Amino acid sequence: MSSSPIVQLRDVGVRYDSVTALEHVNLDIYANDFVGIIGPNGGGKSTLVKAIMGIIPYSGNIEYSRELMRGKKPHIGYLPQISTFDKDFPISVREVVMSGLQAERGLWRGYGSNERRRVDDILERTSLADLRNRAIGELSGGQLQRVMLCRAIISEPRLLVLDEPTNFVDNRFENELYNLLHHLSEQMAIVMVSHDIGTISSVVRSIVCVNRHVHRHDSNIITEEQLRNYDCPIQLISHGDIPHTILGAHKECPHCHK
Ligand code: ADP
Ligand code: MG
Repeated sequence: MSSSPIVQLRDVGVRYDSVTALEHVNLDIYANDFVGIIGPNGGGKSTLVKAIMGIIPYSGNIEYSRELMRGKKPHIGYLPQISTFDKDFPISVREVVMSGLQAERGLWRGYGSNERRRVDDILERTSLADLRNRAIGELSGGQLQRVMLCRAIISEPRLLVLDEPTNFVDNRFENELYNLLHHLSEQMAIVMVSHDIGTISSVVRSIVCVNRHVHRHDSNIITEEQLRNYDCPIQLISHGDIPHTILGAHKECPHCHK
């Protein structure tokens, strides 16, 4: 683990009116992290990543390392939980990905040939090149998620935050996505929320349990007992009648080894 964190949360709390979503959160994210965030529904996973993104009010302190800052803001790629993108908006795949460069470009300046090349390059690498001129409304869920991921990473952030990126997408895309993230994790820190603990533990290096309180677990394997200690009641996966006592791929489960 590298020496100093790129994001440091100290005694962070988030309240929505009468609901306390998070309290007393202390968490460090490092430059070489690949962290999976798990926890029960409503446990505060999305709230935690929004606080890290700095897009909701919180109490306490969040500090970003100097290398993560771009100007006055932290430079973090973000794929929100459900794409709130208006699918009827007549905008092409290329334009959506290009808009990920807006922050570094400024709203009022047009895009040059250099930006276009970067966009075409990333579309090529994510097998989206053939779709580049397609309107986003014509894409499948998996294709749209891939486009939104390109938009989140086109500006080469040092930290990428994904909130349940495999919701509503098929298995094939899920595997493709994990392969892509595996490669990306060599260049940037990744924090990914997922409810699919079985898969997550084969992809990430550390697990963060979120249920109003937050516990960092520096391994990709976690036991039921540890989850209980973290007060993090999540459903263990079970495929058919094969129980999974330890989170992660069960060695006898054919579904875990497809
Ligand atoms: P998770 O992503 O783990 O499912 P969330 O972070 O979305 O959990 O929500 C944590 C808690 O905060 C839940 O009780 C949820 O109902 C509440 N909450 C989330 N967003 C809002 C909001 N905008 N207004 C009021 N309550 C909210
Ligand atoms: Mg959520």
